[in-house]
Amino acid sequence: ENGSRHVLKPMDSEQLREYGHRMVDFITDYYKTIESFPVLSQVQPGYLHNLLPDSAPDHPETVEQVLDDVKTKILPGVTHWQSPNFFAYYPSNSSVAGFLGEMLSAGLGIVGFSWVTSPAATELEMIVLDWLAKLLNLPEHFLCKGNGGGVIQGSASEAILVVMIAARDKVLRSAGKNSLGKLVVYSSDQTHSALQKACQIAGIHPENCRVLKADSSTNYALRPELLQEAVSRDLEAGLIPFFLCGNVGTTSSAAVDPLAALGKIAKSNEIWFHVDAAYAGSACICPEYRQYIDGVETADSFNMNAHKWFLTNFDCSLLWVKDQHALTEALSTNPEFLKNKASQANLVVDYKDWQIPLGRRFRSLKLWMVLRLYGAETLKNYIRNHIKLAKDLEQLVSQDPNFEVITPRIFSLVCFRMVPIDDDEKKCNSRNLELLEAVNSSGKLFISHTALSGKIVLRCAIGAPLTEEKHVTETWKVIQEKAKQV
Ligand code: PLP
Repeated sequence: ENGSRHVLKPMDSEQLREYGHRMVDFITDYYKTIESFPVLSQVQPGYLHNLLPDSAPDHPETVEQVLDDVKTKILPGVTHWQSPNFFAYYPSNSSVAGFLGEMLSAGLGIVGFSWVTSPAATELEMIVLDWLAKLLNLPEHFLCKGNGGGVIQGSASEAILVVMIAARDKVLRSAGKNSLGKLVVYSSDQTHSALQKACQIAGIHPENCRVLKADSSTNYALRPELLQEAVSRDLEAGLIPFFLCGNVGTTSSAAVDPLAALGKIAKSNEIWFHVDAAYAGSACICPEYRQYIDGVETADSFNMNAHKWFLTNFDCSLLWVKDQHALTEALSTNPEFLKNKASQANLVVDYKDWQIPLGRRFRSLKLWMVLRLYGAETLKNYIRNHIKLAKDLEQLVSQDPNFEVITPRIFSLVCFRMVPIDDDEKKCNSRNLELLEAVNSSGKLFISHTALSGKIVLRCAIGAPLTEEKHVTETWKVIQEKAKQV
């Protein structure tokens, strides 16, 4: 058949049925055999260039041809984040429920920027964010019935950026536009680099970013006295403190800042207080871990990534704000081509005004599926199981005289290292990096590292949906064996 006369039928339902089944089979087989792949991809940079043609095909190919290439050319370059032996960074959970929600969202193919463009998308998002706010026992002012409300962002980085822009514009409305150079941001040095990026984008002067030192004396939590001193100094210098980012579960060591004390300082100085609980927020649905967000009632905004440890396929970052108008005043636009009765009459939420892009996917479907197909009690036990596995690993590490646990574990992250020999910290750091390289290049597992007070620390974050006790004990054996070799 002459390809140029081929009539494209991209929405052929029967083709979807056939190919869709085949794709689901492919993914199911992938999950069944996921442990047979090296967890961390071992390919060299540029590997794919030599395997694929230089230009796109002129004529249709079959799904079998594509899936063959996925098997032989793509999978070798995939790092298997859903492997039960993936312990690097923080997890990025997939699940059957999340996957189905993602599929449904792709199938409906809507773009829900304003309420009118798909009322269900906006309304379901408001409802599931309220559901989750209630599971976390967040203060009433974060629920959508009043001035506050929740919204799904693509990432924690976007969540932090939009609230910083809201806070910036709020303060500039009273201080005057020319005061941008006086605005000061505060955080501990353990805060994710997403905050620095937000400052760069929001035009905060780099010399006005106060990165306050946290150390082992507080288990890497920010000391309120340090914040108070910095704020007082800045006020004396005629600067304007305007934004504080607190952490519940830092990226390096899952440290928890004292929210209530920080919030008090923020409030008395009219500073917007944001709490980043990207990873650890999920654990706080369990009553016994809720204490770690005590003080969140003093925050202006709060974010947690459902795509990390809450079985909701990437991307799904949840953000709650106390004052939705601060967001919409900073981010809303009202072009003629988007005008509609519901928006004009102020009857509805238009989420385009709560985020950076205009277009938005129907992401609440996957969170809704997760909550409905699993239920809160099962989700709490899912979290508890990972925390128990981490506790077991922490114990194994502490029983081995060649290793030490670096910070006390709270959630499911274990931070440890090989101990120094003859107090030689420099050598110890390079040995730990060598160990990291050795375990990761074995393909059997994947862990990552960080630095705490100049010490190279290995991070084992338990939280992949397929991880069981045997994976953790086997991982520890591999680490011990490789340690003998370095
Ligand atoms: N905040 C914390 C505490 C994180 O651990 C991470 C990522 O691991 C982020 C923010 C950034 O997340 P995202 O990729 O959603 O922007």
